[in-house]
Amino acid sequence: MASGGANYRNGTQRNSLKGTTTATDRQLSMNSNPSKAALKNKSLSSVGASSGLRKSSPGSLGGGTAKDDAGVPGRVRVAVRLRPRNAEESVADADFADCVELQPEFKRLKLRKNNWDTDTYEFDEVLTEFASQKRVYEVVAKPVVESVLDGYNGTVMAYGQTGTGKTYTLGRLGEEDTADRGIIVRAMEDILAGVSLESDSVSVSYLQLYMESLQDLLDPTNDNISIVEDPKSGDVSLPGATLVEIRDQQNFLELLQLGEAHRYAANTRLNTESSRSHALLMVHVKRSVKGRELAHSSQNGNSTNIAKSLRPTLVRKGKLVVVDLAGSERIDKSGSEGHTLEEAKSINLSLIALGKCINALAENSAHVPVRDSKLTRLLRDSFGGTARTSLVITIGPSPRHRGETTSTIMFGQRAMKVENMLKLKEEFDYKSLARKLDIQLDKLIMEHERKQKAFEEEIERITTDTQNQISEAERNYADAMEKERLKYQKDYMESIKKLEEKWMMNQHKLGERKDQMASTAQEVAELKKLLSKETSLRKAAEEEINNLKSQLAQLKMSEASANSESLKLRKMLEDEAYRKEKLEGEISMLQTQLLQLSFEADETRRRLDRGGPGKVPGDLDSLISQVRPQVNDSVNEEKASIANLFEQVGLQKILSLLEAEDADVRIHAVKVVANLAAEESNQQKIVEAGGLTSLLLLLGSSEDETIHRVAAGAIANLAMNETNQELIMSEGGIRLLSITAANAEDPQTLRMVAGAIANLCGNDKLQNKLRGEGGIKALLGMVKCGHPDVLAQVARGIANFAKCESRASAQGSKTGRSLLIEDGALPWIVQNANNDASPIRRHIELAVCHLAQHEVNARDMITGGALWELVRISQDCSTEDIRTLAHRTLTSSPTFLAELRRLRIDY
Ligand code: ADP
Ligand code: MG
Repeated sequence: MASGGANYRNGTQRNSLKGTTTATDRQLSMNSNPSKAALKNKSLSSVGASSGLRKSSPGSLGGGTAKDDAGVPGRVRVAVRLRPRNAEESVADADFADCVELQPEFKRLKLRKNNWDTDTYEFDEVLTEFASQKRVYEVVAKPVVESVLDGYNGTVMAYGQTGTGKTYTLGRLGEEDTADRGIIVRAMEDILAGVSLESDSVSVSYLQLYMESLQDLLDPTNDNISIVEDPKSGDVSLPGATLVEIRDQQNFLELLQLGEAHRYAANTRLNTESSRSHALLMVHVKRSVKGRELAHSSQNGNSTNIAKSLRPTLVRKGKLVVVDLAGSERIDKSGSEGHTLEEAKSINLSLIALGKCINALAENSAHVPVRDSKLTRLLRDSFGGTARTSLVITIGPSPRHRGETTSTIMFGQRAMKVENMLKLKEEFDYKSLARKLDIQLDKLIMEHERKQKAFEEEIERITTDTQNQISEAERNYADAMEKERLKYQKDYMESIKKLEEKWMMNQHKLGERKDQMASTAQEVAELKKLLSKETSLRKAAEEEINNLKSQLAQLKMSEASANSESLKLRKMLEDEAYRKEKLEGEISMLQTQLLQLSFEADETRRRLDRGGPGKVPGDLDSLISQVRPQVNDSVNEEKASIANLFEQVGLQKILSLLEAEDADVRIHAVKVVANLAAEESNQQKIVEAGGLTSLLLLLGSSEDETIHRVAAGAIANLAMNETNQELIMSEGGIRLLSITAANAEDPQTLRMVAGAIANLCGNDKLQNKLRGEGGIKALLGMVKCGHPDVLAQVARGIANFAKCESRASAQGSKTGRSLLIEDGALPWIVQNANNDASPIRRHIELAVCHLAQHEVNARDMITGGALWELVRISQDCSTEDIRTLAHRTLTSSPTFLAELRRLRIDY
C-alpha cells in the first residue's frame, strides 16, 4: 500500500478528491469573506459515515446581515494547530519523525499510522508550528468576534491534550512580546475598538468548571454557581457570576490576571490540576443600533415623527464565550468503559459529555444529551445552537502521543459536522422607552391641568357676566312697571280732576238758576251722592293700586313668576279701567240729563219772556214732574230710569247730540247711546230713530279713540239682530269697522270692532258680501295685537263664519273651498287651535270641525297641519260635544282617513 497521497479512510467522501482537488480545497476557509466561505462538503469523516454533512451554508458569517428569525445555517469551523517540538521532544524524539505531516495549502493533515500507512484529514484551517499568533487569531477567532459585534453569539474553543498549546493559543497576555498575544487579548482589543463606550457596554465573567462545580474566578468565594436556562429561548445565563464592565484594555488585562491568580490559588487549595479544569471567559457585548443601521432594520421607513419618538432603541446583545478546555488525554481511555458518577467526574464528566453531544450532533441523532453535564449545558448554544462557533484543536508532533493526537483529530472531524443556526440577538430597549414616555406623560398631565384651570376660570367669568345681565334685566323690568303704574295713576287723577271741575261748573250754573230750579237742588244732592260714591270708588281704586304695589314688590322678588304676575296686574288694571269707564258713562248720562234740563229751562225762560208769567210754573212743573221720578229712583235702577228719561225727552235729541260740536258732549252722548243699545229692549227704537246710521257716521267722522271704542261697542250690540246686520252691511259697516280697527291703539276698541264683525259673520245671507268687503281680512288683521279678548272675538267670528259656510255647503248653496281658507285664515286657525285661553280654543276647535266637514277643504287642511289639530280635538278636547263632532267628522272623511293610512297612523 503506497503511503502518502489521498488515501482516505472509509472512502466516504462525497465529492471525491480526484486528481486536481486543489482549487476547490483552497476554498475551505475559515475566513469570513463570503466568496471564500462557500463551503463544500469536502470534509471527510471516519465516523458517522452514513449521515454525511448537513446541508452546507453559503452564508457569510462576518457580514452580520442575517435577519431571518429562523437564522442562517452556520457550521462549526475547526482549525488544527501543531505545536513545535519542545526541548524534551527534541531530545527524546530525535530519531523519530513527527507523527503528523501538514499540508496547509490543501488544508490537510496526514497522520502517520506506521511507517507505511497514513490517514489524511481535511480541516477548515491547518496551522503549522510556524503559524503566528496573529494569523491564528485572524483565521480562528476574528470572524467570530465580528459576528458578536453584529449581535450574534459566538464561541471560540480550544481542545487538545495537555501541553499542546490550548492556553498558549487562547490565553497568552503577550506582556513581554506583543506578538505573543493570544486570542482572548486580541478579541477584546477588537471588541473595544468596535463599540462606542457612551452607548454600548462590554462586560465579562470569568469562570472555572472543575469536577462539575462552577467557580467564579473573579470572586473565589463564589464557588458553586448555578446555571439558569430560559425555557422559552433556551438562553443560558449565570445570574450568580460576577459581571465586570470593561472600559479599556488595561482594565481587562488586570481582570484576566486576577482571574488567573484566583485559578492558581483555587487549584492549589483544592489540590487539583489546572489541566483538568475548564476555563470559560464570557464577554457580553451590548450595542444600540441607531441611524442608518436602524433605518436598515426598521420595517417601516416612512414612520411619522411621533412614531419615531415612541420607538424604542434597538439593542443587539452578542455574547462571546472563550473556552480553554481541560486536557483531553484521559478521555479516550474512559470512553467505552462504564463508570460511576464520581469516577466519571474525576475523569472529566463534562468532557465526556461534550464528546457525546458532538457525536450526536454530527450524526444528526434525535437525542443530544446536553443535560448530562454542566459544560454541555453551558455550551448548548455553541454546538447545535444559534452561536457562531470556531474550534481550534491543538496537537503535538511527538509519535509517542499518536493515540492522543488521533483522538483529538477525530474530535475535530466530528465537530466539523455540527451545524448551527445563527440568530441575531436583537431586541427593543423598552425600559428607556418607558422612561421617555413617563416624561412625556408628565408633560401632558401638566398641560392638561393648565387647560383645565383656564377652562374653569372662563366658566366662572361667564357665570358672573350672566348674573349681572339677569339682575340688570330685573332692574329694567321693575323700572318699567313703576313708570307704567305712575302714568296710569296720573291719568286717573287727571280725569277725576276734570270731572270734579265739570261738576263744580255745573253746580255754579245751577246756583245761578236756583230761584227757578230750587227743586233741582235735590237732584244735585243726588249728583253729590254719586260723586261721593265715585270718590269712594276712587279710594277703593287707590287701595287696589296699593295692593298692586305690594304685588309688584312680590313680583320683583320672584323672577320666575314675573310674567304671570304681570298679566294678573294688567288684568286688574283693566278691570279697574272698565269700572272707571262705567262710572264715566253714568256720570255722562247725568251730565246729558243736566244738559237737557238746562235746555228745557232756557225754553221756559224764553216763553216766560214772551208770554205771561202764569204759564211758566205749569210748564216748569210739568218738566220737573217728568224728571223727578227719575232722579228719585234708586241707584240700582239708574240705567232703566235714564233710558226712560230719554224716552220722555226724546231719543232724537240724544242722537242729535252725537253731532254736537263740543267733543265732550259727543263722547257723553255716544256713551249714553251705547248704554241704551246694551239693552235689547231699546235696540229697535235706537235703530228706528236712525241711531245705527249715526253711530256708523260717527265711526267714520270722529278721530277720537274713545268715541270709536264706544260706538263700535254699540254697533256690536246692535249687530246681534239680523235686520240690523243687513243695515250695517248696506251702510258700509265693514269698511268703517276695518278702518277703525286699522287705526285703533286700544285693544278694547279692537275687541269691540272684532265683536261687531264676529256677529256679522254669523249671518248666513251676508257671507259673500262680508268676505267681499274684506271682513275676514279685517278680522285676521286684528290678531297681531295679541290681546286675548280680541283673539277670542276673532275666533268667534271665524267659528261663526265656518258654521254658516258649513250650513250653506250642506244645503248645496255653496260649492268650492272655504272662503276662510281662500283668505288665508288656516295658518292662524292651526296655530291657535290649542290656545291656552279656553274661549279662543273652543271657538277655533268648532271652526276646525266645521271646515273639516267638507271634503273640498280636506287637502288644504292636511297640508296646513289642521288634520293633526282635528285628531287632537277628537281625542283631547275637554268638551264632549266638540270631541264627538271632531271624531265623527274625521272618520267620515275619506281624504283624512287615506292620509292617516298613508302615514301608517292607526286611528
Ligand atoms: P496546554 O494549555 O494545552 O496544556 P500550553 O499552552 O500550556 O498547553 O503549552 C505547553 C507548553 O508549550 C508551554 O510552555 C507553551 O509555551 C508551549 N507552546 C505551546 N504551543 C506553542 C507554540 N505554538 N509555539 C511555541 N511554544 C508553544
Ligand atoms: Mg492549559
